[in-house]
Amino acid sequence: MKPFIVPASAKSWIEVDPESHFPIQNLPFGVAVHKNRGEGMVCAIGDYALDLPVLMEAGMISEEEFPWLDTFLGLDKELLTKLRKRIYELLEESHSELRDNAKIRKKAILNRKDLQLTVPIPPTAFIDFYSGIQHASNVGKMFRPDQPPLLPNYRHLPVGYNGRASSVVASGTKIIRPKGQTKGPNDEMPAYGPTKEMDFELEMGFYISEGQDMGKRITCKSAEDHILGLVIVNDWSARDIQRWEYQPLGPFLSKSFATSVSPWLVTLDALEPFRIDGMEQDPEVLPHLRSQGKQHFDIQLEVLLQTAKMKAPQQIAASNTKHLYWSISQQVAHQTSNGTPIEFGDLYASGTISGPEEGTYGSLLEISWRGQKPVSLETGETRTFLEDGDTLTLTAFAQGDGFKIGFGECAGTIMPAQG
Ligand code: MN
Repeated sequence: MKPFIVPASAKSWIEVDPESHFPIQNLPFGVAVHKNRGEGMVCAIGDYALDLPVLMEAGMISEEEFPWLDTFLGLDKELLTKLRKRIYELLEESHSELRDNAKIRKKAILNRKDLQLTVPIPPTAFIDFYSGIQHASNVGKMFRPDQPPLLPNYRHLPVGYNGRASSVVASGTKIIRPKGQTKGPNDEMPAYGPTKEMDFELEMGFYISEGQDMGKRITCKSAEDHILGLVIVNDWSARDIQRWEYQPLGPFLSKSFATSVSPWLVTLDALEPFRIDGMEQDPEVLPHLRSQGKQHFDIQLEVLLQTAKMKAPQQIAASNTKHLYWSISQQVAHQTSNGTPIEFGDLYASGTISGPEEGTYGSLLEISWRGQKPVSLETGETRTFLEDGDTLTLTAFAQGDGFKIGFGECAGTIMPAQG
């Protein structure tokens, strides 16, 4: 199916700041919780959002063509492209239908800052990959200093694990410091208590639209037909719990207590102008994971930290999705290569996206190099890991010529352990 790309020169009759994440070229979708009438889909434009059920009620979005737009349910990729195209028509500066209808405009245009946004799609499954090659190398250097930083399988398959879908939460949800078992190198016995190494992971994620039946697989070539759009993911991690539990089956309780996602689902159509080749894969991967064309995206990522004492957040890292070794198509192809079924609403995360040098690392584990190099903050405070009251915010955008395709924010504040 052909992507719908909004021309770089297009403008809306709603004024949009050039620095806004949500120009008419983006038009991402979210789900808002309204006080009186439950959930409804919204589409971001500048400082505003369009209330889609209101537009359907007004006859500006076809009731025959689209499902009732209270959630994403029933929207496949093709329908979402059609819906985005229709919204473009309503917002483009030369179109008068909504522009000149004051009554509907008043009802349908909401202030974005007043919205309570939820998880775009409550995921049916959550899969976390490990496709950031610099992150994987850094972790290898820290934990296996006398061996090659990457394990032998790394360049042959996208390493991943099945995570926990029930604890995926919306940006802004408070994150309770988890408790768990830890054991220091000199401790005789493990102990149970609040993590002392609360960390974040800077990741991008995507949602599956149309699934696939058991026994069949999805090829790299058709994988993107199954991808509805992208979100920012913070895969909160308790490093001390992780270190003690992760062998031999991988992370379990050190990750499953909470995972935050950004509220706006950005379509692949909006990201189309930002495709890049990605890094060379050497050695060549097996035929079932080979893909052609520009399968990666140039998306800039930023990490901001605000302690309880700080008046404004401070940037502590900046990275880019170009540091991913495996593409989203390869992740889907690999996941289904054994015939496992996938379904609408499955959420996939990339793995931590770190760059090659200091200042570009996507976790405090790397930024503080296992606690050896504390981060200095403007207040004079230092951090090796997150403390109670700290707010960690991830943000992402692709920079176009005079506009940004942004994701908004994925934020969470750490609360004291309970119980
Ligand atoms: Mn992760």
